[in-house]
Amino acid sequence: MKETFDIGLIGLAVMGENLALNLERNGYSVALYNRSTAKVDQFLAKAQGQHFGGAHSVKEFVSLLQTPRQIIIMVKAGQPVDDMLNQLTPHLSQGDIVMDCGNSFFEDTRRRSRDLAAQGFRFLGIGVSGGEEGALKGPSLMIGGPEDAYAEVGEMFKTISAHVQGKACAFHFGPDGAGHYVKTVHNGIEYADMQLIAETYHLMKEALGLSAEETGAIFRTWNHGELESYLIEITGDILKRRDPETGRPLVEMILDKAAQKGTGKWTSQSALELGVPTPTITEAVFARLMSSLKAERLEASERFGIQNLPYAGDKQVFIQALHDALYSSKICCYAQGFDLLKAASREYSWDLNLGEAASVWRGGCIIRAQFLNRITEAYDRDPNLPNLMLDPYFLAILKKSLSSWRLVLSTAKSLGIPTPSLSASLDYFDSYRQAVLPANLLQAQRDYFGAHTYERIDKPGSFHTEWLE
Ligand code: NAP
Repeated sequence: MKETFDIGLIGLAVMGENLALNLERNGYSVALYNRSTAKVDQFLAKAQGQHFGGAHSVKEFVSLLQTPRQIIIMVKAGQPVDDMLNQLTPHLSQGDIVMDCGNSFFEDTRRRSRDLAAQGFRFLGIGVSGGEEGALKGPSLMIGGPEDAYAEVGEMFKTISAHVQGKACAFHFGPDGAGHYVKTVHNGIEYADMQLIAETYHLMKEALGLSAEETGAIFRTWNHGELESYLIEITGDILKRRDPETGRPLVEMILDKAAQKGTGKWTSQSALELGVPTPTITEAVFARLMSSLKAERLEASERFGIQNLPYAGDKQVFIQALHDALYSSKICCYAQGFDLLKAASREYSWDLNLGEAASVWRGGCIIRAQFLNRITEAYDRDPNLPNLMLDPYFLAILKKSLSSWRLVLSTAKSLGIPTPSLSASLDYFDSYRQAVLPANLLQAQRDYFGAHTYERIDKPGSFHTEWLE
């Protein structure tokens, strides 16, 4: 009798290969297909003796699977996913489960969920975080799709995911695009977390004149405290690495032009769509765009000829202030991300569990950190928390750190050192805690030029003034 496999996987680039190895290591037999079929043969040649099978056509691939079929697609996001689905669906049977584990745009996942459901197939959109190492050793998995399909594959995903304190970093967040949306916000937070660390490093270097080694040592120390996280850890590692060719710190030999694949942008776009302020995250996206204007920046630096000045105060005090500013800004960044998740949950009727979002990000993924436990605890205390900054734990930290935070930002401004995400964070905090903002004047202006009307503070209703009388 022909051998059949537990699960099928399409897409043998780095993520697909590693996910296949992870599945097999955990006891699942896996049938493989890739558009360029030579990759199937190469993979099978390397993995002899393991429970893999391969196919050279989609039809053959489907015939290798036990029914109802469970098929993971791990190809380039966008049109390639639709291409694969179009090739796959003619060979599927009613009730088969198709799972897109790529970085798909959540609206695409919603559309595909509807289209596949209409054809009698079950579709899951699964955000996978942790890069190639995560895929191999245990990723963080954010799952969206029909409950009955999750009931059949959930155990498998829990088994192959990262685990923290015995708990799997895999969670079913809701229907259709819920999983991919949680992954998108994860990536937006990742952009901001990275940018905040980069700005802190820049201040250490420019304001305090510290060497890469010295800044690296500070980050390594911080990694033993409240800021303990994967990103702080790798920053400490990066800053001590020397370039073998020049002997200089490697980080200083790397061109200051940041690339991006677009998931940070999706977070900001969604925030604008849903009307949620996410300035720390959005400034991090803008900062990458600004960094890419390298030639213009070089020209402008010559034309303006302004030198960044060093900080004249106590270095140790400033380093502690940087720590506090970074931590407070990080709280603002996560407050924005979770506010966005809450708004999306309402808009798309997902009923997202916010505490579980923090929990699945504790392991396997790029933003993994001790700090996420505090967020889960905050939502355990109050699942309807209006904003993370109002949780007693975070509120106390923000209050305690405020003078340090202001010292860092006022110093950065006076020395002319750019801090887009750190500044956006403090402005977010200062705006949120204000009982009165100058939006009264905005409303008056709107009414003046467009008769848009305004509300009054002393009585209900909608009012208009003839301003030109
Ligand atoms: P990738 O470079 O994004 O995609 C390459 C894979 O897609 C190859 O298997 C390629 O097949 C296939 N492909 C491209 N166009 C296709 C088409 N029109 N029809 C069928 N197959 C097509 O690979 P990756 O880096 O392993 O990422 C896979 C997915 O995981 C992506 O959605 C990515 O965004 C997501 N992801 C990546 C990371 C990471 O760290 N790399 C982390 C998390 C999530 P051929 O071999 O025939 O070209």
